Amino acid sequence: MPEANNLREAERLMTICNSCRYCEGLCAVFPAMERRRVFATGDLTYLANLCHSCGACYDNCQFTPPHEFAVNVPRAMSNLRRESWERYAWPAPFAVLFRRNFTAVATALALCIAGFLIGLSATHPAAMLLRADGLPGAFYRLMPHAAMALLFGGATLFALLALAMGVRHFWQSVNLADPLNVDAAALLQAIKDTGSLRYLGGGGAGCYNESEQPGDTRRLFHHLTFYGFLLCFAATLVATLYHYLLGREAPYAWYDLPVLLGTTGGTGLIIGPAGLAIARHRRRGELKDAGQSGMDSAFILMLLLTSLTGLALLLLRATPAMGVVLALHLGVVFALLVTMPYSRFVHGIYRFAALLRYALERRNLH
Ligand code: SF4
Ligand code: SF4
Repeated sequence: MPEANNLREAERLMTICNSCRYCEGLCAVFPAMERRRVFATGDLTYLANLCHSCGACYDNCQFTPPHEFAVNVPRAMSNLRRESWERYAWPAPFAVLFRRNFTAVATALALCIAGFLIGLSATHPAAMLLRADGLPGAFYRLMPHAAMALLFGGATLFALLALAMGVRHFWQSVNLADPLNVDAAALLQAIKDTGSLRYLGGGGAGCYNESEQPGDTRRLFHHLTFYGFLLCFAATLVATLYHYLLGREAPYAWYDLPVLLGTTGGTGLIIGPAGLAIARHRRRGELKDAGQSGMDSAFILMLLLTSLTGLALLLLRATPAMGVVLALHLGVVFALLVTMPYSRFVHGIYRFAALLRYALERRNLH
């Protein structure tokens, strides 16, 4: 459905829901909706990013198809949300990457892996690339630490800049106050609501996914994914501090903090995305957003490959396979970083921004 049609559909549904108000206790979307009488594009975009797709308002609604009102709020919000990510993408020409997202991400992944494999094999004799090492500094004998820091630091800065520009655009479209002048209590509330996935709870009963029986497994898998990702990120930060402050070079012993954080996070980052993939496969057709299927698959694949290659590197670092596995892991992580602003990853960023706006509204500060 073209963007204008999706906006009209969301506006139609919000007008019906604003008269009915049966779902006002289910999540943040309905109380935010009730503060409005008219729904401009910015309002609808805000409501769409506030929705967590828990499905509760579909199963609680008396106006779903075959009723003539044909109310399906989760699907309408999902369509709008996906379009908003594309609209806010920076630089704008890269927005097209959201369309055929699986192809775009898979191409980036193949190019990055090929780049690291070719790069390492072109700069080292096969005997060095395929020898067992495993001693401190083994990774940097294959790729100098300075080159690694430059490449991955640059990709991280680019991803952060692109995400910040997208949020700035979102911020402006929903008329949010100066982000540097935000109330601390509202900020804390938004962090709590994001970190606990409060509104994936269907108003307390749980998320509706494969049946009309609510449950909390989707939230659990999402938590494993999110906190697994954070732990892996923390492992990288601690390893950087080890390197620069303590002069200790990777790979580290299994009991060292970067390895403990990375192993715990990596395990979560396998179980979580695998569980989310199964939950998505089982999701009822009426709650699915077919347009998002490729994007979801691409992101789940990237997270799984990141954790699997990371754990493989940990297991095989003292064997002749280390060089090849290192190239695979670096290729996957580099592809994850450069595609991050044009992938499903952005949903967490915009959701946090929407929750912050909601917290400010509730405190009557906006
Ligand atoms: S989703 Fe249905 S039941 Fe819920 S507020 Fe809208 S119209 Fe009413
Ligand atoms: S799907 Fe869940 S989060 Fe989204 S509007 Fe409905 S009840 Fe709220």
